[in-house]
Amino acid sequence: MSNVSNNLIVQKDWKQSFANTVQDSQTLADILQIKLDTSQKFSNFPLKVPMNFVKKMQKGNPNDPLLLQILPTFAETIQVAGFVNDPLQEQSANPTKGIIHKYQSRVLLPITGACMVNCRYCFRQHFDYHENLPSQDDWQTMIDYIVKHADVNEVILSGGDPLSLSDRRLFDILQKLENLPQIKTIRLHTRVPMVIPERLSIELIERLASSRCQVVIVIHANHPNEIDEESCFYLQRAKNMGITLLNQTVLLKNINNHADILAKLNEKLWQAGVLPYYLHVLDKVAGASHFYIDDDEAVNIYWQLLAKCSGYLVPKLVREMPDKPFKTPIDLY
Ligand code: SF4
Repeated sequence: MSNVSNNLIVQKDWKQSFANTVQDSQTLADILQIKLDTSQKFSNFPLKVPMNFVKKMQKGNPNDPLLLQILPTFAETIQVAGFVNDPLQEQSANPTKGIIHKYQSRVLLPITGACMVNCRYCFRQHFDYHENLPSQDDWQTMIDYIVKHADVNEVILSGGDPLSLSDRRLFDILQKLENLPQIKTIRLHTRVPMVIPERLSIELIERLASSRCQVVIVIHANHPNEIDEESCFYLQRAKNMGITLLNQTVLLKNINNHADILAKLNEKLWQAGVLPYYLHVLDKVAGASHFYIDDDEAVNIYWQLLAKCSGYLVPKLVREMPDKPFKTPIDLY
């Protein structure tokens, strides 16, 4: 495996990087030297993209695959049958504030509504974070709930993006969970390594690596251009310090619905120390229908991917279904 030289990476303060975030389309268009139709009406889900991520986009290319993931478009405002606000019906799996419990052995805690980037296909873009963010008082109820469900042995920290929290808040949450003897694994789902990779600071990784629980970071990368030398450096370092790294990808029309692109992504992930884990078909969330590809196309891409990659680099092709207590494999035959 190739290693990125430490000398190439200047250690940066992630909070400063996060402050350097673009929040309006015209500014972004100017930076990328593209033309936008500003007469169009957009959804209420705002543009938010750190400059770190913008720098990975190709100037002058309005169809850049990273740009298409974050740029608000008119297509989002078109209502399409079957595309709804809560495609996974998480509200019905929400037994107490701050907990989503769908799978037997694990619970998901949406601990923050904040993200470092707003992804246009996000299935939680309509999620009521206000109703679900736990206050300090709610934590005891959440802990009681987990203790009462003795078969829960894994906690998934999600959001929003859990790594958008400060170390102080994150470490406090880790401590609360580590105090529960039944919890064996803590998993964090994050898009941070592609947008603000320096968030994987030494302090953060040391804290995670010293946990009495197994710690897994699941990153969400969709396209090989998201993983540059800097992302690779921080991911490799986390892996070398003992963190298990997995990736999940969403199949997105005009962005990564091609076996060559996914094969390249998997190869880059492997170089960065990350194993491909899931390849998701899109959750049918309102505003994202233009990203959807049907199962036939997904299966066709998947067969090609199987022929291109080593078996351990081929993620499972799955769909999340609201009424199923597991990710549902897509039928390949
Ligand atoms: S939760 Fe994840 S997919 Fe959704 S906007 Fe935030 S970073 Fe993007």
